[in-house]
Amino acid sequence: MDKTAEKQALLQRSREIMVGGVNSPVRAFGDVDCDPVIVTEAKGARVTDLGGESYIDYVCSYGPLIFGHAPEFLLTAVEKALHRGTTYGFTTPSEVELAELICASYPGCDKIRMVNSGTEATMSAIRAARGFTGRDKILKFEGCYHGHSDSLLVKSGSGLLTQNVPTSKGIVRELIEKTLVCPYNDADALAKMIDENKGEIACVIIEPIAGNMGVLPPDDGYLRKVRELTEKDDIILIFDEVITGFRVDYRSAAGLFDIVPDMVCFGKIIGGGLPVGAYGGRNEIMEMVAPLGPVYQGGTLSGNPLAMAAGIANLTKLRDEPEVYDRLSAAAAFLDKEITALCGQYGIPAVTSRFKGMFCLFFSEKPVRSYADVMACDTELYKAFFEGMVKEGVLLAPSQFEAWFPSAAHDQAVLDRTVEAVKNVFKKLRK
Ligand SMILES: *Cc1c(COP(=O)(O)O)cnc(C)c1O
Repeated sequence: MDKTAEKQALLQRSREIMVGGVNSPVRAFGDVDCDPVIVTEAKGARVTDLGGESYIDYVCSYGPLIFGHAPEFLLTAVEKALHRGTTYGFTTPSEVELAELICASYPGCDKIRMVNSGTEATMSAIRAARGFTGRDKILKFEGCYHGHSDSLLVKSGSGLLTQNVPTSKGIVRELIEKTLVCPYNDADALAKMIDENKGEIACVIIEPIAGNMGVLPPDDGYLRKVRELTEKDDIILIFDEVITGFRVDYRSAAGLFDIVPDMVCFGKIIGGGLPVGAYGGRNEIMEMVAPLGPVYQGGTLSGNPLAMAAGIANLTKLRDEPEVYDRLSAAAAFLDKEITALCGQYGIPAVTSRFKGMFCLFFSEKPVRSYADVMACDTELYKAFFEGMVKEGVLLAPSQFEAWFPSAAHDQAVLDRTVEAVKNVFKKLRK
């Protein structure tokens, strides 16, 4: 069987045996006029498809791969751990080491608990916050995504935006009634909502730099205001740094904005591409969690030695070579400048958005500052752009509402080729 036929056969099998042919809805290509990619291997900035194509990749597994695919240092670390056993059900030195690395870098994070995904981290953090405060309500922001646990699937970002699902079916009404939803980047709305629910809100959970409705940085002073308002009513402030943690800076968003949240959630980069999540915070809150306290949370594979080895390798490299952050910012800035110029040159109604190494191209006539602006984007035009980019050999997320993640492996040649691809696609999109 030739490669094209082999790929078609596998696509067919995937659709028959897996829901929508995928294990996460964001991976579905929907009704775009090109076949989904089936990755067989990847290295650096590139992935290889079963059909034999090679693509420049800006998805990078939605965030974990800050050094690109399969960097040697990470393979070596995981391989070493692999031969010592894959899981034990007892504490290992690597868990202690990764926990120490994370806590040392993060303001106000005294203790941490490893879990297996970002979803588990946020779910467990809000449980601890509810246990600690004795309050039931939680507050999240429109367009922010915190994984798929029941309480947090309300007006959520990421895949829910693409499929236009404000709230997932299958969730008990009484539970989501406890989830308040506030507009992002609107401190007055937050003040009002806290005032109307005085003494009832356990926690406010926020992506300090929103990265699941495209890239939407916080307005000047906004996060400080969020900190002040939550502190005043004894509300636990949770920074969901599953994307931003160790991506925007080694001190994460909290260090960069000089704000100390009560709790923090991590995922993605701290596992270097293996399944991981973590939540942490002040001693008095974390000591509510079992076995020290009455809030239960556990996990057979939590603190898995392979994931810990990958995480330690990733974080020590980032700590020892912080110039990586300058390179990622420069890469995103280069894409920003070049693509903005191309938008002008070809009359494409799109605007860029960027924070450090996180980048996004919104198909919008005006700058995007809010969830409402995000929702007004031309997703049909994005679809045509995405399709054109795939045909040019550059992989973006199938959804308009995801960030582009250049990695340390995206060198100048890769960036130049990307800009050339954008130019070729814009030429065809031009009316
Ligand atoms: C990806 C993400 C999550 C969920 O993490 P999973 O590992 O996919 O469960 C939570 N919060 C944010 C901000 C994320 O980007």
